Formats: sequence, structure tokens, C-alpha cells
Amino acid sequence: MTPVQRATTPDAARPMVEAVAVSKRFGGNEVLTSISLRVERGQVMCVIGPSGSGKSTFLRCINHLEVVDAGRLYVDGELVGYRERGDKLYELKPAEAARQRRDIGMVFQHFNLFPHMTALENIAEAPTTVKGMSRRDALERGRDLLARVGLASHAGHYPSQLSGGQQQRVAIARALAMDPKLMLFDEPTSALDPELVGEVLDVMRELADTGMTMVVVTHEMGFAREVGDAMVFLDGGVVVESGAPRELLANPQHERTKAFLSKVL
Ligand code: ADP
Ligand code: MG
Repeated sequence: MTPVQRATTPDAARPMVEAVAVSKRFGGNEVLTSISLRVERGQVMCVIGPSGSGKSTFLRCINHLEVVDAGRLYVDGELVGYRERGDKLYELKPAEAARQRRDIGMVFQHFNLFPHMTALENIAEAPTTVKGMSRRDALERGRDLLARVGLASHAGHYPSQLSGGQQQRVAIARALAMDPKLMLFDEPTSALDPELVGEVLDVMRELADTGMTMVVVTHEMGFAREVGDAMVFLDGGVVVESGAPRELLANPQHERTKAFLSKVL
């Protein structure tokens, strides 16, 4: 890995996510090539790009579910998965890596709720088992979060008794229960029937309004235009183009971006 100097910045000015020349390969297949970008605190960064362009892999690297092969990835000023000493890198111990991951919420296309637990139990699970919160506090907090995603009356429902949109709102509440400083969304509405997409985007919009930093992989260009502060277009594992969503969507500069947008808009 090439050593990269990191500027020392005060907390408030420090980006929430900083990727510096991040590359990732699976076997001989380079999936991310020298990705550099910043997500400022409180920003909503939308990531768009065709299937296979590396969007999920990039999110998974931020969350240390994948290990980058080259470059540096920082979350809130901390190197993800490693400790730097001089120009050497040392892998974090599993407990330290788990602590980093605990501060990052992730919402997937397929909601991945525990099927044998109610909505409320799904939300209360991690705070009790991972954070050691009392069950009583976790359930109380869980009820607040359910109310926040508009599901106060569904606390006792099992996932199979909820619509896809309701399940995804529970999944968002479950991620929020860990008090994340960063939320990652990987195509959160792609598996939903069209009439259920809006209720999930509404919850995400409200979350953005609270100042949560979010990285959102999505094909919902209306959402990106209204809620996104920044956007990157990935193709073939490289950032082809980035900018303000309105500008990028209205005025793409690269042929590949134009070709992609002509298919999805
Ligand atoms: P996207 O989310 O943009 O559709 P992905 O990040 O899922 O793209 O995948 C990018 C490329 O990486 C694809 O070619 C995919 O097959 C490959 N890939 C993703 N995960 C793995 C893995 N665990 N092992 C091998 N190849 C993978
Ligand atoms: Mg994906």
C-alpha cells in the first residue's frame, strides 16, 4: 500500500467518510479502482451506477465487511479496519473492528429481519446483546423508534405479518437503535412493490432532515435530486463523475453517465 498523509482537522470539519485511492479485487477481478471521495458530516451522498459497477462492494468496504486492497478508507477520521503506525498498517483486533462497525448502520435491499422476532424485538436485540443495554430500556427505545418510522401500532407484528415497506422501515429503526453516526443504504427500495417505495423514502428523507450522514445506493433519482447533497456515478469500479445531484442528473458530462441515465430516467 502506498502511504497517504492525512491532514489533522478539527472534529466538526472532519469528513464522515474519506476514501483515498481505494481499490478492491476479488481474485483477478478488480472491482474498485482508486476510488477517492469525501462525504461531509450531515451530508447525503447518493451512489448510482449500473449493476456490477461496485456500489455494494464500496459500501461493504466502508463497513469493513470487505477489506480494501490498496488506498485508505477513513470513517470519522479513523482508518477502517487498521491502525497506522509510521507507514505500517496493523489489522485491528476483531473486538476493535466490531466497535468501528457498531457505529455504522446498514440497511439492505432485502430487509434481513429476524423472522422469529416481532418488530419490537428485532429493534431491541442488538442494543441488549451488543451494547449491554437493559431489556427494559431497549424496548422503550424501540417503541420510540417504531413511532418515528410510523409503526407504533405494529410492535407485536412478526416480519411475515408486515408489508415489504413496513419491514424495511423496521430495518431502518433497527439500525438506528445502535445510535449510528453514519447510515449506509444499499438499494433499500429495489425489492419493494412500487406503491411501497414512497413510505420508505419518506422515512429516509426525515432521517436526512435530522442531520444524519447517509450514503445511499439508489436508482430513485427523484429522491437523489431532492434529498442528496452529493452524487457519484460509478461504472466499472471507477468514479466516472461526481457532483451535486441536480447538476449531475440534468447535465451529465461523460458519455457513460449519459448512457446510464438515459436508461434509468
Ligand atoms: P453493484 O452493487 O454495483 O451491482 P457489486 O459491488 O455487488 O456491484 O459487484 C461488483 C463486482 O464484484 C461484480 O462483478 C461482482 O460479481 C463482484 N463481486 C462482488 N462480491 C464478490 C465476492 N464476494 N467475490 C467475488 N466477486 C464479487
Ligand atoms: Mg449492489
